[in-house]
Amino acid sequence: MKKFNVGIIGATGMVGQRFATLLENHPWFNVVCLAASPRSAGKTYEEAVGSRWAMANPMPEALKNMIMLDATADISKVAEKVDFVFCAVDMKKDEIKALEEAYAKAEIPVVSNNSAHRFTDDVPMVVPEINPEHIEVIKSQRARLGTKRGFVAVKSNCSIQSYVPALHPLMKYGVSKVLACTYQAISGAGKTFETWPEMVDNLIPFIGGEEEKSEKEPLKVWGKVEGDVIVNASKPEITTQCLRVPVSDGHTAAVFVSFDQKPSKEEILKAWKEFAGVPQELELPSAPKQFLNYFEEDNRPQAKLDRNLEGGMAVSIGRLREDTQYDYKFVCLSHNTLRGAAGGAVLLAELLAAKGYFD
Ligand code: NAP
Repeated sequence: MKKFNVGIIGATGMVGQRFATLLENHPWFNVVCLAASPRSAGKTYEEAVGSRWAMANPMPEALKNMIMLDATADISKVAEKVDFVFCAVDMKKDEIKALEEAYAKAEIPVVSNNSAHRFTDDVPMVVPEINPEHIEVIKSQRARLGTKRGFVAVKSNCSIQSYVPALHPLMKYGVSKVLACTYQAISGAGKTFETWPEMVDNLIPFIGGEEEKSEKEPLKVWGKVEGDVIVNASKPEITTQCLRVPVSDGHTAAVFVSFDQKPSKEEILKAWKEFAGVPQELELPSAPKQFLNYFEEDNRPQAKLDRNLEGGMAVSIGRLREDTQYDYKFVCLSHNTLRGAAGGAVLLAELLAAKGYFD
């Protein structure tokens, strides 16, 4: 695989920092450009991040002295340097939409963590193990934008990345109804316990917009490319409650599920164990070898013990048992800033690279 030159838009933020560390020794991607708001532009990456560095690993040496660009004003400068960009910025939705389309129209593919384009019907929203075929819609998006190379591809919200993977191999049994309660880490809000001390010994029963995303996004992921757009699935019915909990990293979901044809417990465990997707078949660099991991112990998965499984890219599941209201219930966990954000986007970029979309 040829090496691609990459930019990180929103490099100073929590997700941007994850990109910086994940890409440090990446076999295919080489970070050559960093951009963020006008506040950061002109500073070195080290100066711009200042005391906000929140990763366990130190800032990559090669990036410390890189001069930050302005994500909006310097699009043509970024475009001269890179083959594609990752984007994770905290801006208004319509500003993000415009920014991402401006990069695409400058013939720079955008792999985005932002929610702005998740429901643009010719923008694929991809969990690479689940709906890799949705990237075919990029052809129609390029026609709409009038571009040869440029396009926007997005990953889904971090909250759905624990329970949608666990439900996916069970879709053959006709998943009809899902109730999911999520227990979400503070890094999902771009925070640490230092920057959000109010979260120590606390729980907040509301995360703005999260329940709507958690109920709607799976239906796009399970949708189909029809003509020039992705048409959402109509089933299953999904209801959610999303809570912020005092955990640094790792979103847990307690899931209840009913089926048209109820499988046995053994069939569910077998479906999880045997499930592998295109990233595993293609052996993409960031793909976990075993995507879905079932723990027999009653007290697993635990955020602190299990979130980093396979570099934070695997999903952990436990406590599968029959329920009195639904057919089954279980608990699952994924790392929200790795699989759920930057890691998921890097895996999506690897899929796009392997399929020739950055050529
Ligand atoms: P964050 O830590 O608050 O970082 C925000 C980033 O946006 C910073 O790099 C900031 O640059 C930049 N920014 C702000 N205003 C800008 C502007 N006008 N022009 C250009 N850049 C600007 O946020 P985050 O947690 O990394 O989240 C970033 C995005 O990823 C959000 O859309 C979020 O919803 C999404 N996301 C986050 C997670 C997660 O787990 N944290 C998961 C999935 C998706 P300055 O430093 O220059 O201000």
